[in-house]
Amino acid sequence: MNRTPQGVDPHEPRSARVFDYLLGGKDNYEVDRVFAHRILAVAPETRSLAWFSRKFLLHAVRVAAAAGVRQFVDLGSGIPTSPNVHEIAHETDPSARVAYVDHDPVVFVHSNAIMTKHPGVTALQADVRHPDELLGRLESESGIDFAEPVAITIVGVLHYVMDDEYPGELVRRYRDAMAPGSYLALSHAAATSDPEIITRTSQDAMNTSAQVRYRSLERVTSFLDGFENLEPGVVPLQRWLGDDLPDTKLVLYGAVGRKP
Ligand code: SAM
Repeated sequence: MNRTPQGVDPHEPRSARVFDYLLGGKDNYEVDRVFAHRILAVAPETRSLAWFSRKFLLHAVRVAAAAGVRQFVDLGSGIPTSPNVHEIAHETDPSARVAYVDHDPVVFVHSNAIMTKHPGVTALQADVRHPDELLGRLESESGIDFAEPVAITIVGVLHYVMDDEYPGELVRRYRDAMAPGSYLALSHAAATSDPEIITRTSQDAMNTSAQVRYRSLERVTSFLDGFENLEPGVVPLQRWLGDDLPDTKLVLYGAVGRKP
């Protein structure tokens, strides 16, 4: 089963649309809202977590831009929301290249509509589980030059890659293509999340593209092998944004690594 979203299926929750709903967007269906409320019933603060996650993503973009990176690839980019990666990258350099990648055709339609107005910004409908094909398309269609440093963000995505789809291998494949001085930012659902949330999301999304694999700190840390982890390391992503943000029952680890 490849669990790839096909067309606009209003009967099955989609992670892009559930996340859109949590962020207050309008591009979602009843099935997505029901799924979201099964989480919100146990952990109402998950709406805040969605915003913390966006802030973490944009923080990582700023860190890479400040270090001189001018190419950004946002894997599993989701339904566009503002501010987005290109807006932050263009604050530093309006000629920075940005590629948004998502396998959900609904995301692609929304992304493409916006991105065509911005030179150097592209949207690709592609699956991160096929790195060789995607790396080729990023070069040929998005103009990403892997001989130069690039920032790859894969925020809230790798937990949708099941163990038998080898998430660690995938990240290694991207890492090997990246030039020294490149950055990788990821976030990932933690096995320390509230058991009730783990049960609900696992049951509700079984065999769909929204199925989540919660992983241990050690496993998530191993995805950053070959990178130098920036401080504060692999931690609940709120810790990247300051000490005053509350903990959440759904725990997302955030990490940013630099390829030496
Ligand atoms: N990264 C965005 C953010 O942090 O705001 C969106 C996160 S949303 C929870 C997860 C996104 O990853 C969805 O848009 C989903 O379609 C996408 N996604 C999941 N698995 C994917 C895959 N194998 N290839 C490409 N995109 C994927």
